[in-house]
Amino acid sequence: MSTDVDELITAARAHDARALGKLISMVEDDDPALPALMSALLGAGVQTRSYVIGLTGAPGVGKSTTTSALIALLRERQQRVGVLAVDPTSPITGGALLGDRVRMQVHATDADVFIRSMASRGQLGGIAAATPRAVQILGATGFDVVLVETVGVGQAEVDIAATADTTVVLLAPGMGDGIQTAKAGVLEVADILVVNKCDRDGADDAVRELRTMVATTPQREPNSWRPIVVRTTATVPNGIDELVEAIDKHRSWLESQRESEL
Ligand code: GDP
Repeated sequence: MSTDVDELITAARAHDARALGKLISMVEDDDPALPALMSALLGAGVQTRSYVIGLTGAPGVGKSTTTSALIALLRERQQRVGVLAVDPTSPITGGALLGDRVRMQVHATDADVFIRSMASRGQLGGIAAATPRAVQILGATGFDVVLVETVGVGQAEVDIAATADTTVVLLAPGMGDGIQTAKAGVLEVADILVVNKCDRDGADDAVRELRTMVATTPQREPNSWRPIVVRTTATVPNGIDELVEAIDKHRSWLESQRESEL
């Protein structure tokens, strides 16, 4: 058993997508060999982890279009990118969600990009437990950045925020519940608020409303992070540079916080 696991790990580190896929399936299935896998991966001295970016928002807001544009930019920076697409509303994501990943297929032949829909077939904790483990696997096999894309349905974004270093919440003008969702606590988890579909009417209003909301939310501490509001039109793509810039800013802020804690 352990030789199998060791071989899979070696292959995954050598960018073998099939081996990586098997490792993630072991997580989803809550495989009996999972504890051995995790200790072989994480216990072997060299500790590497990915920078984790969570993207969440209502269905249709433009998450996968934005993810695809982000992959392209991160690849220009020579980053090795993993994508985990999580749909907590569907018990058997695999097939259905992969159909939606078509627009990411341009990256499918890139050995430095790994895209996977996450399903939760195992018993223990479902998606909430499986995602952090899958993120650890990608970190330990050499991915610089992991994008975790999830449909925003209440608890899911809170779970993703706990796993992500930077949480990006996407909204779109004219989606009815867009800004309402923001009012209902999205600000709590968002490090960056993206108004996507800025080619549509109502984008300026949405941006203005969100900026006011951010500015009038009391800061918990003097140095607390204030969410940045970014405008994008992911289909062009437009504004993705600004999104990456905002992510970089948040990352630097996190690092400065960690340093000041030392
Ligand atoms: P997801 O469900 O949040 O992943 O959303 P998708 O990325 O699948 O996008 C849903 C639909 O919105 C697709 O038809 C996209 O082409 C479209 N879309 C995404 N971004 C934009 C945008 O910036 N402007 C416009 N007009 N349409 C967009």
